[in-house]
Amino acid sequence: MPNLLATTRYRRPGRHLVLNGHIDVFPVGDAARWTRDPLSGDLAGGRVHGRGTVDMKCGTTASIFAYAYLSPLADALGGRLTLTLVSDEETGGRWGSGYLVERHRDDVLGDCVLNGEPSSLDTVRFGEKAILWMTFSVRTPSCHSAYPHVSPSANKIAAALVRDLESLEALVPAVPEAVRRTLGRPEVGAAIERGLGAGAAGVLQKVTVNVGVMRGGVKVNMLPAECEIEADARLPVGVDREEVRRAVDAIVARYPGVTWREGTSHAVNATWSDPDHEMVGLIQDNVEARLGFRPPPIVSLGGTDCRFWRAAGVPAYVYGCSPAGMGAPDESVAVDEFLHVVRTHALSAFDYLSR
Ligand SMILES: [Zn+2]
Repeated sequence: MPNLLATTRYRRPGRHLVLNGHIDVFPVGDAARWTRDPLSGDLAGGRVHGRGTVDMKCGTTASIFAYAYLSPLADALGGRLTLTLVSDEETGGRWGSGYLVERHRDDVLGDCVLNGEPSSLDTVRFGEKAILWMTFSVRTPSCHSAYPHVSPSANKIAAALVRDLESLEALVPAVPEAVRRTLGRPEVGAAIERGLGAGAAGVLQKVTVNVGVMRGGVKVNMLPAECEIEADARLPVGVDREEVRRAVDAIVARYPGVTWREGTSHAVNATWSDPDHEMVGLIQDNVEARLGFRPPPIVSLGGTDCRFWRAAGVPAYVYGCSPAGMGAPDESVAVDEFLHVVRTHALSAFDYLSR
């Protein structure tokens, strides 16, 4: 899993900007469901087609081109520009950005990070929800299904437990004032739903719980002895994962025979950077000059590698193409959108380093 690191130091002193993108992509899945070769990179109908075009070849390419475009402009720039391209993002980032931030701090921490993960052209991302994966195991003695008085059913206990886990969604976040003010702006709700679909604004500031896997029982006329549940909770800014752990402990305590453990997800809370940071303004200026509107700063529903930098105290921002079609068959990105993202990254990086 190679990570590529490139740095240019300019003669004038100044700030250190880090460009970050990931190279790895989701698996193709069932190639029969694609209308083109999933790895073709075909250019057709004004779009680039193939797995990873949205997540995140568009954004990673924008980082590469921003880095290359600034190279001949060195005389106008100060400080330092670093390009970080990583191979492990989709499976947790431990060997990608997590590795660089942990082992190569002097090379990659910098003063600000710009990332091109799919975000929609309508918004800039200044933060993101945290991920908490949980595995629950239900164990009962089990027996013949005609003797339900002898053993409880692991599946029925699991069903009740799943119901109960929904109560986590009622946890009330203690949202920091700067985040509350930013997300409370009148134009934000509409921008979120334009970019992410109807209903997106409603889940941005609440805990959500997805029960992604339930496995229980081996035969229809046996009381199931075991059921395993895997759940994926997304925690908004202002919810501490320790608080969620305690709430889960309290739920599990009500069910004899149930144990749980935390999965190998990212052990941090939701992260956020200053929504009024200079970089947000630069991105907004460059988008407005081209498209005529200012994308408001919002928090991402999904995760990005920016969390590693934010957790290390470095402000990090995301601006990328529409997330539509990401990870699905026939993934593709509009060429116009792609070029707009490249332009926005190159100009914003130039503006940041030339001041
Ligand atoms: Zn991605």
